[in-house]
Amino acid sequence: MAIDKKSQKFLEEYLNNASPTGFEFSGQKIWLDYLKPFVDSYFTDTYGTAVGVVNPEAKYKVVIEAHADEISWFVNYITDEGYLYVCRNGGSDQQIAPSKRVNIHTKKGIVKGVFGWPAIHVREKENEPVPTLKNIFIDCGCNSKEEVEKLGIHVGCVITYEDEFMELNKRYWMGRALDNRIGGFMIAEVAKRLHGKKKKLPFGLYVVNAVQEEIGLRGAEMIARRIKPDVAIITDVCHDTHSPMYDQKVSGNQKSGLGPVLTYGPAVHNNVLDMLIATAEKKKIPFQRAAASRQTGYGYRCIRLF
Ligand SMILES: [Zn+2]
Repeated sequence: MAIDKKSQKFLEEYLNNASPTGFEFSGQKIWLDYLKPFVDSYFTDTYGTAVGVVNPEAKYKVVIEAHADEISWFVNYITDEGYLYVCRNGGSDQQIAPSKRVNIHTKKGIVKGVFGWPAIHVREKENEPVPTLKNIFIDCGCNSKEEVEKLGIHVGCVITYEDEFMELNKRYWMGRALDNRIGGFMIAEVAKRLHGKKKKLPFGLYVVNAVQEEIGLRGAEMIARRIKPDVAIITDVCHDTHSPMYDQKVSGNQKSGLGPVLTYGPAVHNNVLDMLIATAEKKKIPFQRAAASRQTGYGYRCIRLF
């Protein structure tokens, strides 16, 4: 289904804003400001999960949920020579870090840096070094620890990549943390379209953008205790297993463009899943199936546009 220009503008702004796990405030503000006109009320919890509510007076509560946070790095150690060593904030991948440009978030604003790596000429051919947390480092143009500190950088500053929204072949979207800002976009679209139809729902709808998913679903756990929903439909992203190097026998058969993926698993309620499938079949909405051994949970950066 096509999206309108306002929705597209919101998505691009939301994607381009940095919202690292534990520091989601600015992204949550963008999301909630966009959502407010489409809901009856809203609230946030102490850690920053944002919730828009349609029919807050209803007893039966349905949650549709996404997560707002993005994986990032923390400054972990500053050398006397002015290099930064990092630790993960969420499941950041050290293999893809070398040569990536970064934004270091400080109280004085963004400081630019780049993950360095020894040049190809000087690396041992037989024993190529592999990026690990022990050897990847950030160069922010400083010659000493004092210079680094003068820029406002200290241990605990968060670091995100520079990458912004990009369209590939007018078909695919690329961006930082489409996992799971695309889910946040989707649930906001649900509220927007319901509002446009002016149809009274027979239940309370809680549109939830949770914080701290990337470190173990913490925000969702906290807000579930507060809302105490009867039903929750959770959105997240998954892998296009038709990309090179995937083994579909292990990772399943899912392809961008063939519809959303519904996941079977012990933690998924069968009646809710059956209802979603029956509705999709009735409305001729394409969908795909995946299975999860325990709880669900994925990460992927690219989704199909139409
Ligand atoms: Zn996710």
